[in-house]
Amino acid sequence: MTCSQYLTGVLYAPAQTSSVSQSTSGPKPSRVLCPKCNKACGRPQDVWRHVLSAHLPCWLHCPYSPCPWRGHRKENFKTHLRAHPGADPNFGPFHVYETKVILGWIKDGTPVEIAAAYALGFVSEKAHELGLVEDWENLWGGREKKVQCRRSNGRSTD
Ligand SMILES: [Zn+2]
Ligand SMILES: [Zn+2]
Repeated sequence: MTCSQYLTGVLYAPAQTSSVSQSTSGPKPSRVLCPKCNKACGRPQDVWRHVLSAHLPCWLHCPYSPCPWRGHRKENFKTHLRAHPGADPNFGPFHVYETKVILGWIKDGTPVEIAAAYALGFVSEKAHELGLVEDWENLWGGREKKVQCRRSNGRSTD
């Protein structure tokens, strides 16, 4: 973790105005690369969203046990909720594992495949807990295993 970034960002000192000889024309795009596949994602939150959906097992599951639904996107869960008539639209989805923990490891330098292996362990635990071991036989979460960043325009302004 580089906490020092925040400190230097706070200390704004306009001392370096004189020696800007090479005009870099405009703000730096500061693209963030995926630590796994080097895909360039725009903002830090985009790269973590990409890592979650492309390189880690499904992290959302349906709270209506024993429904085996899993997914990577809350929007998809909203669609899935049609399978549960009368369900509270504000309830769920539940997390299969703590994405913050897994992503925290990756941010700290843990290789994505190692973090994914741990995540799969959590998925397995959750499968036992929910009695969905057979349904979740593919710990990755079914067909979505090899999802790459599907849509480039799926970026909402949170
Ligand atoms: Zn990637
Ligand atoms: Zn469900």
